Amino acid sequence: MKSVQSTFLLFFLIFYNTALAWGPTGHRVVGYVAQKHLTKKASKKVNDILQLYSLEMCGNYMDFIRSDTNYRHMNSWHYVSIPDGMNYHESNKNPKGDVINTIEKLIIELKKKEFKIFENEEFAIMALVHMVGDIHQPLHVGLSEDRGGNKVKLEWFGEKTNLHRIWDTDMIDHLKLSYRELGDQVDRNITSTQVANWQSTSVRDWAEESQKLRSSCYDFGDKKRLGYGYIFRHKQTIHLRLEQAGVRLAGLLNQIYD
Ligand SMILES: [Zn+2]
Repeated sequence: MKSVQSTFLLFFLIFYNTALAWGPTGHRVVGYVAQKHLTKKASKKVNDILQLYSLEMCGNYMDFIRSDTNYRHMNSWHYVSIPDGMNYHESNKNPKGDVINTIEKLIIELKKKEFKIFENEEFAIMALVHMVGDIHQPLHVGLSEDRGGNKVKLEWFGEKTNLHRIWDTDMIDHLKLSYRELGDQVDRNITSTQVANWQSTSVRDWAEESQKLRSSCYDFGDKKRLGYGYIFRHKQTIHLRLEQAGVRLAGLLNQIYD
């Protein structure tokens, strides 16, 4: 993993030129919210294993390594493509893997402590933090024809962007909040019943929720310039998905480490 660290800066720069996952703030919010919902025991174990980054910061690691050829086989693990009117079970699976079946395998590996997909337990946790975040972004359960909105070219307050990037990064960055401020905001009123309900759902349920939400992401008609109106319509969804991702990630980590 050392070689990865040494080339960190290069990948960091490349990462900012692609639009393929919640941006840095989004993934940090997921880790931060999860940290708040971990049991004491699970928190101690997870934080003892994580050496490179804290739980709050480690969610971006999967993006930092994207451009390293050693990890290129992981590129399809950030998303899944499912056509409208079809569920995951019925859809054609990517032979290289997708975000759904990779999370499912990863949970088994973490429970058994046998690491085949990722090199070791630390990497596996960092990947889990990232992918539980990704699967909650509605356009990561996307349509293959527009690559989850990456091909939908738009303007965001006068800047060229695309629909996928608006959901990963532009709307969140527009709030101008730190990940802690945003995390506290999205997770401020949760009840223990809500936590239990959300944590009782499966990886496939999370994907199904994203798939249901994604059609509303396209609610701009012929307009190519998006801004305040679009944020107004979708801010609650962004908050909800970040909070659910964090709470569910905590649920998994509590199951494995408590
Ligand atoms: Zn990703």
